[in-house]
Amino acid sequence: MMRLGMEFSMPEGYCVKCKAKKEIVNAVEEVMKNGRRAIKGKCPTCGTVMFKILGGKAAAAAPAAIPAAPVTTPKPADTN
Ligand SMILES: [Zn+2]
Repeated sequence: MMRLGMEFSMPEGYCVKCKAKKEIVNAVEEVMKNGRRAIKGKCPTCGTVMFKILGGKAAAAAPAAIPAAPVTTPKPADTN
């Protein structure tokens, strides 16, 4: 990984207008009603307001645990 001297990387968000991931420009941190923090800014391409929620668990990035199919082990009937 190359270090370009920037300690702080621009927050990224999904622009619904560009339908692509974009840097959030003029990003400001906001606290929502439910107490969660979010980044609010604008798309550098089209200027659409973008919003990125910081609080809570990263549901989108983390791979969802695939529930394994329950193994049906036949119980021996002669145990009792
Ligand atoms: Zn855009």
